[in-house]
Amino acid sequence: AAGETVVSLTGLGKEYGGVHAVRDVDLEVHGGEVVGLIGPNGAGKTTLVNMISGLVPPSSGSATVLGVPVGRTPVHRVAAAGVSRTFQHSKLFNRLSALENVLVGAHLVSRPTFLRRLLWLPSARRDEQAALAQAARCLRRVGLADLAGSRASALSYGDQRRLEIARALASEPSLLILDEPAAGMNRVEAARLSDLIRSLAADGLTILFIEHNVGMVLETCTRVVVLNFGEVIASGSPDAIAADPAVIEAYLGTA
Ligand code: ATP
Repeated sequence: AAGETVVSLTGLGKEYGGVHAVRDVDLEVHGGEVVGLIGPNGAGKTTLVNMISGLVPPSSGSATVLGVPVGRTPVHRVAAAGVSRTFQHSKLFNRLSALENVLVGAHLVSRPTFLRRLLWLPSARRDEQAALAQAARCLRRVGLADLAGSRASALSYGDQRRLEIARALASEPSLLILDEPAAGMNRVEAARLSDLIRSLAADGLTILFIEHNVGMVLETCTRVVVLNFGEVIASGSPDAIAADPAVIEAYLGTA
């Protein structure tokens, strides 16, 4: 629900053999926020979202996401709690159709359906119909209904990136994490993605995304968090961030 604490990080850190990829991060994300995570290359953005999604255990501090202590919880249980994400590099099944790619996302979490099908229970067929309908809804949600039967490899680049989002939606998450969703998109595609993100948030989804296209971040987010050398150097509204001297300095490299 809007306003509830979705992500709560306290003194969160990750060290790789003496390199502080992330250092002492305190961050709260509330229901309905669209938070953009920006920062120069190597600032620690991917490491931070990997910890939030339960893929990478923290070296220090604590992280609670949707009530789950993520450092101590297997990644599938973090997903079951309502965290879903896309990755920087596409992980689509190229030879499957768009619809099938979304179904894979649904089956990853809907274990009861999978078990019932294995056991040939009568409810399995009904579940299958429901999963198909739900996958079709996810495709429609991202504007890909017309391409449901097309092979993923045949979609345009922008459509493939939206398909990844559709697949992430199949698990009906509360928190959606997007890792550079606009990378490689042209202006028109990025603007369309920005509209999609804002409309998903209007539906009640909390969104956290890494993005290098700062213009797109400022236009899309309710709040922007800036990382530099593993630390949060600024957090605030897009307007405040655009005017922040520490952010300008980090980006211009005058430090
Ligand atoms: P980019 O914008 O280039 O994707 P980023 O902000 O996502 O960068 P990270 O990928 O989180 O940054 O990396 C932060 C730092 O941690 C970098 O110095 C990186 O080399 C280091 N690092 C990340 N993952 C590992 C790892 N598995 N082993 C060793 N060092 C790592």
